[in-house]
Amino acid sequence: MTSRGLQTGLLTAAAFSLVSLAVCGDAPSPAAQDAGKGRVTIVYQDDAIQPENKDVIKTIRDSGVFERMAERLTAAVALPHDLEVVVTDELPKGVDDPNTELDGRRIFWPAAFSKDTHDVLAEFLPGALRDKGVPKVIAQENFTAEILNVWGSQFILGHELGHAVIHQLNLPLTGLEEDSADGFGTFFTVNDKDTGPDAALGAAVLFDAMGSKRPNLTMEDFSSDHEVIQQRVYNFLCAALGSDPERLNSLVTDGYIPELRAMMCGKEWSQLNYGWWTILEPHLTPSTRAETVAVRQKARQDLEDENAALLAKFRKMRGQQ
Ligand SMILES: [Zn+2]
Repeated sequence: MTSRGLQTGLLTAAAFSLVSLAVCGDAPSPAAQDAGKGRVTIVYQDDAIQPENKDVIKTIRDSGVFERMAERLTAAVALPHDLEVVVTDELPKGVDDPNTELDGRRIFWPAAFSKDTHDVLAEFLPGALRDKGVPKVIAQENFTAEILNVWGSQFILGHELGHAVIHQLNLPLTGLEEDSADGFGTFFTVNDKDTGPDAALGAAVLFDAMGSKRPNLTMEDFSSDHEVIQQRVYNFLCAALGSDPERLNSLVTDGYIPELRAMMCGKEWSQLNYGWWTILEPHLTPSTRAETVAVRQKARQDLEDENAALLAKFRKMRGQQ
């Protein structure tokens, strides 16, 4: 797989989503959804994983991040249906990237995709180290293809879980689904207390590595329902920065995020965090709804504070005070 393969797969998914819009008139009622006790499970089809992909899948499996994501989603959101994440090399025709079926009940995770992302990182990292060294926000021992592949995979699974949640719950969206899925991946991984922004940082390095394989953008990139891959890198970095501006400030001072974009990152993260808590609120399990009252109130307050701070900055820049 290369980033071309990624883009092609995504275009295929886009074609299917047009079909789904035409036929999904019989959505279950919100009341039926709220009663949902769907479980998220990870299924490794060991016999269907090619020998050359087994080591990389073992590293991801041993990390436990997929299982933890599955447990967290099961515990937090009352899904109306079970959701199975199938790690395999036996795939429907045309599926060569992680792909969520449009009923939101199954995610295919090609083992070969994980091998490809690992290999793209292994090829990319020596040059990145030569040019800029290890970014300060990532510990030196973690700046390896193995670990960044786990982090990036965690994020990509978050993105796919976003598609699944959107479809199972028929969530209302006000922008492209692919942006919302990136948003869910960011929201769900940054709020994982065990990993924080690591998954988004890993995804940024991985997508940067994939983007470097095709520096010349084509009509295929611009017409995709995904933002071009380089833009997604900045989106991930910006949201991570916004979630923890003090610890991650070197992303700005070391030139990974331009100053102008960095100004927006507190607001961007706060909008994502407040937006996802709000849109999920009717679908949270009773225990999570009770446990997150303060968190959700703080998300709203953070958004108001960030908006006010940004307004003040703009006024100052424009000489309005
Ligand atoms: Zn997607």
